[in-house]
Amino acid sequence: MPQGERPIPYPVFETAAFRRAIERGTRTRTGAPGPKYWTQYARYALRAELDPATKRLTGEGRIQYQNRSPDTLRLIAVHLYQNLFAPGAARNVEVPPTDGMELSRVVAQGRPLPQLRDVDASVQAGFQIEGTIAWIKLPTALAPGGTAEFQFSWKFTIPPDGAPRSGTDGEVFMISYWYPQIAVYDDVNGWQTDRYMGNAEFYMGWADYDVALTVPAGWLIGATGEVKNANEVLTPAVRERLAAARRSPEVVHIVAEGDRGAGKSTTLGAGGKVTWLFDARNVRDFAWGTSDKYLWDATQAAFGDTATINSFYRPSRVAWAWDQSARYAKHAIEFLSGFLWPYPYPQMTALDGVVSCSGMEYPMITCIGGQRDTLALYSVTVHEFGHMWFPMQVGSDEKRHAWQDEGLTRFNQAQAMRSFFGGYDLERIVRDAYLGFARSGDEVELMRHGDLYPVGTDAYSVASYQKMATNMVALRALLGDDVFMKAYREYGRRWTSKHPTSYDFFHTFDDVSGRDLSWFWRTWFYETWTLDQAITDVQSSGDSATITVEDRGLAPMPVRLAITRQGVTRVERREIPVDVWLRGERRATLRVPASPKITKVEIDPENAFPDIDRTNNRWGR
Ligand SMILES: [Zn+2]
Repeated sequence: MPQGERPIPYPVFETAAFRRAIERGTRTRTGAPGPKYWTQYARYALRAELDPATKRLTGEGRIQYQNRSPDTLRLIAVHLYQNLFAPGAARNVEVPPTDGMELSRVVAQGRPLPQLRDVDASVQAGFQIEGTIAWIKLPTALAPGGTAEFQFSWKFTIPPDGAPRSGTDGEVFMISYWYPQIAVYDDVNGWQTDRYMGNAEFYMGWADYDVALTVPAGWLIGATGEVKNANEVLTPAVRERLAAARRSPEVVHIVAEGDRGAGKSTTLGAGGKVTWLFDARNVRDFAWGTSDKYLWDATQAAFGDTATINSFYRPSRVAWAWDQSARYAKHAIEFLSGFLWPYPYPQMTALDGVVSCSGMEYPMITCIGGQRDTLALYSVTVHEFGHMWFPMQVGSDEKRHAWQDEGLTRFNQAQAMRSFFGGYDLERIVRDAYLGFARSGDEVELMRHGDLYPVGTDAYSVASYQKMATNMVALRALLGDDVFMKAYREYGRRWTSKHPTSYDFFHTFDDVSGRDLSWFWRTWFYETWTLDQAITDVQSSGDSATITVEDRGLAPMPVRLAITRQGVTRVERREIPVDVWLRGERRATLRVPASPKITKVEIDPENAFPDIDRTNNRWGR
C-alpha cells in the first residue's frame, strides 16, 4: 500500500428500495416525508386475564387494520413475540423456555382460518406460523383504503425472570409483547418481518388501543395509556390521592404499605377479580406490569403542558432508591420536554420489574430491574423515558438501525444527567467506552442489523449507544449548538408518528444545516475508521509560525486548534477545514503570526471529536 494512502469517504448510496420510494413520492432527498407519504394504522381491542398462581395469561383480541397504502394486500404478517421462548426458536440470546404462544383461534374478515403449512402454496385462506411471525392469507384481498378485521384467542405462560424485557419473579409480572401484533408494512420495504431473536429490538406500527385487563383484587397495574374505569377499580381514598397528585409538583404516596390489598387499594371487584380498562391513542404498542406488592407514588410533571407521573415499586426497593423514582421521573419528563419537544402523552409510568428488564421502554411505561443506587436509578429512568421520543414518537426500525433510537437516547440521557447531577459528564464516559472498544479492534459499524453483530462482545452496544451518542456530540460541535438543535428537532417534527429511515436522518441534517455531510455519515456510520490527528511541529521563522498537523487515522474531521501565546490570556482558535483531508492529504500546515511567542498548541481541547490518541494532540506546555 502506498505510503500515506487514505480512504476518501465516498457518498452514501441509496438502496434501490429508498430510490423507489422517492420516485413514488413517499420520501424525499431533503429528509422530509414526501407528499404521498403514508403509514398503516390499526385499532386493537384486547382483553386478557392473568392468573398469578399458574402464571398463565389468557387473551383475546379484535384488530381493525386499515390499509392506507396504495397496495392491495393478500398476506398480512403478525408478530407472535412469545414464540421467542418456544422450543427450537431461532435465538441469539439465552432465554428461559416456555411453550410460546398458543394461538387457539384466528379469524380474518369474519372467517375462522385453518393453520396451513405454506400460505404461499395454498389457494384457500389460512395462517402459517414461522417462529415469531404468522402469515395470514386473507379470504379477500385488502384493497387500498380498506379495513380488515382480525380476531385472535391465545394463551401463554409468563416466562420467569431471565426473559428479555419481560417476565415474572413471582412477585411482579412484566407483561410485554403479549398479543398478536400486526407487523409494519411501510412505503420503503413493504412488510418488515425480521424475526424476534432476542437481541435486536422492534419495529412497530401506529395504533389505538382499548384494553381490558383482569387480575386479582388488590393487584395494581401500571400500563400504557390511561385507566378509564378508576371508579370501578380504585377505592375512593386512592382516587382522591391520585387526583391531588395530578395537580401537585410534590410526590404523593397514592398507595403506601398499609394501603395495599383488596378493598384498600383496589375495590373488591367481582369474584375476587378486578378488570381494569385502559386506552391509548396513536402509540406503537401496549405493555403492562402488575403486582400485589406494589407501593404507588405519583406527581405532576409540568413543561408548559402537564403529564401524570406514576411509580410502582416494592417496599424492598426503597433500599435501591425507588422512593426517589417519581421525583427522578418528573425531572426526566420536564427536562426532555424542554430539550427536545413537549411530552405528548397523558401519563408516564416507572415500574420496578424483573431483573432481566434491566431498563426497557414501552409507550408510557418502563420496566426497570436490578439493584440500583441514586445515580443508576436516575440514569436508567431518564434513558428509558428518553425512549418516549425515540422510538415511541419517532418510529424508526430498531432492528435494522438501533442507533436511531439508542444512540439518540444515550445522547439525550447525557444532557439530562448533566442537568440533574450538576456537571456529570456522561458524554465523556460514552466517548471513552467507544474509544476503548475501537482500540481493541473489535469494532463493528453502526449500519448493521441488530441481530447481525457478533454475539458475546460489546460490538452492538458500542456501535448503537456509545459511538452514536459520540457522533451526536461531534455533530453538535461541527454544526454549532443552534443549527444542531434546529436540525435535531426538525428531524423529530418531520417524523413523529412516522417511520424514518437512516437516510431521512442524514438528509434532514444536511437540509437544515445547508451542508453536504455525506463524508461524516460515511465515516462514522458505515465504517469503523478512527480519528487520530497529531501536531508534529511548530516552527517560527521571521514574522510567521507554521503549525504542522498530520492526520494519522482514517476518519477525516476538521482540526480545531487552540493556540496559547506568552502573556495573552485569551486562547486563539483556528481551524483546518475537513476539505484538506477529503482531498487525500495526510499533512496540513497552518501559518499564524509568530508573536507573541506561541507556548502551547492543542488540537480540540474540548474533546468535541473522538480522537483515539490524545498523546499527540499537544505541542508545548
Ligand atoms: Zn435504550
